[in-house]
Amino acid sequence: MTPATLGKIWFVGAGPGDPDLITVKGRRLLEQAGAILFAGSLVDQAATLYAPEGCDIRDSKDMTLEEMTAWLLDAARRHETVIRLQTGDPGLYGALVEMTRPLDAAGVSWAVVPGVSSALASAAAAGETLTLPEVTQTVILTRVAGRTPMPPGEELEALAAHRSTLCIFLSITLLHEVQRALLAAGWPEDAPILVVQKASWPGQEKIVRGTIADIKKKCQAEKIAAQTMIIASPALGARDWEDIARSKLYDPSFTHRFRKASVGEAS
Ligand code: SAH
Repeated sequence: MTPATLGKIWFVGAGPGDPDLITVKGRRLLEQAGAILFAGSLVDQAATLYAPEGCDIRDSKDMTLEEMTAWLLDAARRHETVIRLQTGDPGLYGALVEMTRPLDAAGVSWAVVPGVSSALASAAAAGETLTLPEVTQTVILTRVAGRTPMPPGEELEALAAHRSTLCIFLSITLLHEVQRALLAAGWPEDAPILVVQKASWPGQEKIVRGTIADIKKKCQAEKIAAQTMIIASPALGARDWEDIARSKLYDPSFTHRFRKASVGEAS
C-alpha cells in the first residue's frame, strides 16, 4: 500500500477468553485482517483462530510500546485491516491512549470495537448479579495500587465506603490489601468475596468463594494466580436469599414505556 492508502488499525476487544465471546463485528474484522497483534499474556491464542490464512500474526507479550507502535504502523502500510487484539474491553486497563496517540501523530486512522470485560464474564461464570434492587445499584471497576498508583480519592478503602459492587482488577497478588481496605471501610469479616480465575477460558476457569476473612487462604489452597477477578458485593449469593426486593421493570404493579401495570401501581 502507498502512504496515501494506509490501512486502518482496529483495537478489538477479544472478550474474556472464550473465543465465542468476541463480538460479531470483532470476529468479522479478524476474518478480513491482514495483520493481528495480540496481547499474548492475556488473550488466549484461540482468539486468533478466525484469522484468514496468510495473516501476519504476532504476539506482543515481549514487545515494548514503541515496538508495538512500529509494528502496527508498518502493518498499516501493507494491509487494509490491521488489528490490535486486546483482552476484555480495550478501554479498561488496556493502554489504549498510549497506543492511539502515536497513530494520530502518524496520521493513521483507527477505531475501537468494544469487548465483553472480564468483570462481566466473572459475574456470569458464578451466576451472580452485579446489581440488585435496594441492595446495590452501582458497580465500581477498580484495582488496588501496584506499580501504578491510585489517583487521590480512589483508594479502595474510600471506594468501598459506598458499599456498592466492586470489581477489582489486577490485584490478586495484593489480596491482603483488598482485605485490609474492605475491613477498614467497615465491611464485616464474613462479607462474601468472589474470585474468578480465567473466567470463560475453556477448561481453565476456576471459581473460589469465600469471605473477607478466609478468601486469601482459599485462593492459596487453589493456587490462584494471574488473570483473576476479585468481586466484593453486597449482592453476592442473592440467589440463595429468602427474600429479595423485586425489580420494578418486571413487577406486575409497575407501568413503564412497554407495559401497562396489570395490578395496582407500585410506588
Ligand atoms: N481489558 C480487560 C482488563 C485488562 S487488565 C477487561 O476488560 O477485562 C488485566 C486484568 O483483567 C487481570 O489482572 C484480571 O484482573 C482481569 N482479567 C482478564 N481476563 C480475565 C479472565 N478471563 N478472568 C478473570 N479476570 C480476568
